[in-house]
Amino acid sequence: MKFISTRGGEKVTGARAIVQGLSANGGLFVPEKFPVVTEAELDGMLTMSYPERATKILMKFLDEYDEKELLSACEKAYSKFEGPDPAPLVRLDDGVYILELFHGPTCAFKDMALTVLPYLLRKGCDICGIKQEILVLVATSGDTGKAALEGFKDADGVKIMVFYPNDGVSKMQKLQMCTQEGKNVNVVAVKGNFDDCQTAVKEIFSGEEYAEKLAERNVMLSSANSINFGRLAPQIAYYFSAYLDLLSSDQIEKGEQIDFTVPTGNFGNILAAYYAKQMGLPIRRLHCASNLNKVLTDFLQTGVYDVRREFYKTTSPSMDILISSNLERLLFEISGRDAKLTAKRMAALKNDGRYEITEEERAKISQVFDGGFANEEDCVEAMYDVFTDTGYTMDTHTGCAMKVAVDWFEKNKKDETKMVIVSTANPYKFPQDVLYAVTGNDVKDSFKGIKRLHAATAMAVPKCLKELRDKPVRFNKTADRKSLFDEVLEFIK
Ligand SMILES: *Cc1c(COP(=O)(O)O)cnc(C)c1O
Repeated sequence: MKFISTRGGEKVTGARAIVQGLSANGGLFVPEKFPVVTEAELDGMLTMSYPERATKILMKFLDEYDEKELLSACEKAYSKFEGPDPAPLVRLDDGVYILELFHGPTCAFKDMALTVLPYLLRKGCDICGIKQEILVLVATSGDTGKAALEGFKDADGVKIMVFYPNDGVSKMQKLQMCTQEGKNVNVVAVKGNFDDCQTAVKEIFSGEEYAEKLAERNVMLSSANSINFGRLAPQIAYYFSAYLDLLSSDQIEKGEQIDFTVPTGNFGNILAAYYAKQMGLPIRRLHCASNLNKVLTDFLQTGVYDVRREFYKTTSPSMDILISSNLERLLFEISGRDAKLTAKRMAALKNDGRYEITEEERAKISQVFDGGFANEEDCVEAMYDVFTDTGYTMDTHTGCAMKVAVDWFEKNKKDETKMVIVSTANPYKFPQDVLYAVTGNDVKDSFKGIKRLHAATAMAVPKCLKELRDKPVRFNKTADRKSLFDEVLEFIK
């Protein structure tokens, strides 16, 4: 299968799309056409393990990879998850389910893809005949950085360097990154906010003077951010798997359509659901959940995407984002794959902070998508209600999704379509906020929060967070954003 850019021009193989990350004109790589999973194939996947299902989906796009080898890479990746199933489905209520995607090594859904990406990338280099050493650069506002470090640690022929905003991540997230083990990893705090961080990293990707210096050292850059198709593809698999689990446990009938509600930031997770639908999975509607940074809610309602607004720091920090990069892929589809128009809209976003789609396009999107948001109080309320009614504890991001799903139920009382709410983080990753929501208890210290949350919920504390307290800090460097490339050179010396 070949891949094209949302802004036109290039046509490349899947391996090339993954190694390169982004197309040369700044567009995102998308499959030339969507592969289809037939009903018979879906039936065949019913009795498969999660890694087998994931391999089947990945092979639909990445046919130049070796299936046996890919399966063994997926088995290895998902063996790092706690418990027997990397993506278990929990029944919350009649017709309402939670898809738990946080059982991986860093307790966030990013692990679903970032445990597999290193293999896809390294093998992609082999397929493309690339001999240079790969340097993965990541700008993170929290969860991606840790999941990428953990995924790439001690991988052959790859080094990884993560930049995070000095004051923009939670204490838990910072500790997770700064105690990272592995010979090939580096973590640097950047003076400034996430945007400064991201801009500085993007400059390294696009600056010719940097490219020359890297080439002299036989190093090639790559990206682990969610615009990389290698991040998207493994995410499609869990939508199929959730559907198959509902089918095999007789919760739905063959061919029955279901809904998903997805806590959304960069639009990567929910886009994977849309791709699954395009591939033939019986999905009816996708509910896009935001926090106070509700640029997507407004876009879905009005057709206007406008980032010129106040930015809020919330208790669901991984959704504190105004530029949802992966929306570009949806715009491309909705416009009838009009690369010129997509490029024009992205240029408008960059230059004017806004673009608008046509009423016809908006109507087309709303046949599948609707959007809602939760303010801070709504989120607390949703977590509290679920805990009180069912005993289930959810994290703050999932709390936002819960609120949006409940709003939908309120407005559509007769709707009997099964709803799956996607849960993206372990509650212990945000212990103080979750503790506050379920008990009203306010503590200052994260580890005290973990202890009290455990006392209140009896939910098991994941190993990776429990261990954090006693791990030595390996990285404590803070750099000016103008000197990030010096840090890079120092690291690859
Ligand atoms: C990254 C993240 C999100 C947002 O996912 P997108 O793919 O960026 O929409 C939501 N919740 C958590 C916990 C995350 O880490």
